Amino acid sequence: NNLKKFFPLKGGVFGKQVGEVKAVNDITFEVYEGEVLGIVGESGCGKSTAGKSLLRLIEPTDGEIIFDGNNVTDMTKEEMRKMRRDMQIIFQDPYASLNPRHNVEKILGEPLLVHGIGDKETRKEKVKEILEIVGLPGEHASRYPHQFSGGQRQRIGIARALIVRPRLIVCDEPVSALDVSIQSQILNLMEDLQEEFNLTYIFIAHDLSVVKHISHRIAVMYLGKIVELASNEDLYKEPLHPYTQSLMSAVPEPDPDVSKDRIILEGDVPSPSNPPAGCPFHTRCPSVMDVCRTVTPEFREIKANHFASCHLYNEENTTAEKAD
Ligand code: SF4
Ligand code: MG
Repeated sequence: NNLKKFFPLKGGVFGKQVGEVKAVNDITFEVYEGEVLGIVGESGCGKSTAGKSLLRLIEPTDGEIIFDGNNVTDMTKEEMRKMRRDMQIIFQDPYASLNPRHNVEKILGEPLLVHGIGDKETRKEKVKEILEIVGLPGEHASRYPHQFSGGQRQRIGIARALIVRPRLIVCDEPVSALDVSIQSQILNLMEDLQEEFNLTYIFIAHDLSVVKHISHRIAVMYLGKIVELASNEDLYKEPLHPYTQSLMSAVPEPDPDVSKDRIILEGDVPSPSNPPAGCPFHTRCPSVMDVCRTVTPEFREIKANHFASCHLYNEENTTAEKAD
């Protein structure tokens, strides 16, 4: 609820704080048990920061995180440590997130140890078991990360999150660093695991086609804000926000008979340390109106369970346009 993460912006020779980077700027959403909620947006839109803040791997600046009725934001370090058994994360880069000096048994045994699960023998067994669940031979537990391919390493990253049997996993661009040919294997694995273990995913990606594959609902982020949130089906059938429409127009259309006009956005994403007044998208929006430059559109339900923040859907604006 109203989650914010602002980073201090340092400048000048003395490194004084000269401003703030509003990486996550007041976002509110729910995730239901057993659901995959996709979060999509360009790099720098705040999606990873949001994901890491939910687990308090980064401390949120403001707002509330409620997990299963418990306020995560108020928890002590110790309470938080216990909570992480239920809330895990898979990182984007399987190369960077696995300690190269530890073998797989140690890497995967670590979370068990932290949460006090099993004795040494049980942990060994559990490591073997989880390796097989993610599609790697149990004997590979004695190997080191460099002995695996990128896709296999991400399988280890998934195993590390899964081994404590969490309920929620934040998946932070889990396939972005992988070869396209490997991406669908990993996505299929993640989809199977989600069903088998009734997991809840917050699935972060910059690529709409990746999110479409796996999500039940999708949130679109731009400049630290959620600009649209809808079911997978509704978002693809009828994207309401002009930013979503432009993202959608870039997704390749599998049916060659359907022609689609690509919407190319002008200009760059503004700096999150100095977001534009009014609608944060107004500097690039093909449908910009006067009101957009000064008034921030409210994030609201425009159709049943389909939320967006855009003045195009305000009663007054449509009437005004009709009157013209
Ligand atoms: Fe575009 Fe205005 Fe809607 Fe923002 S509020 S997305 S600028 S039409
Ligand atoms: Mg990221």
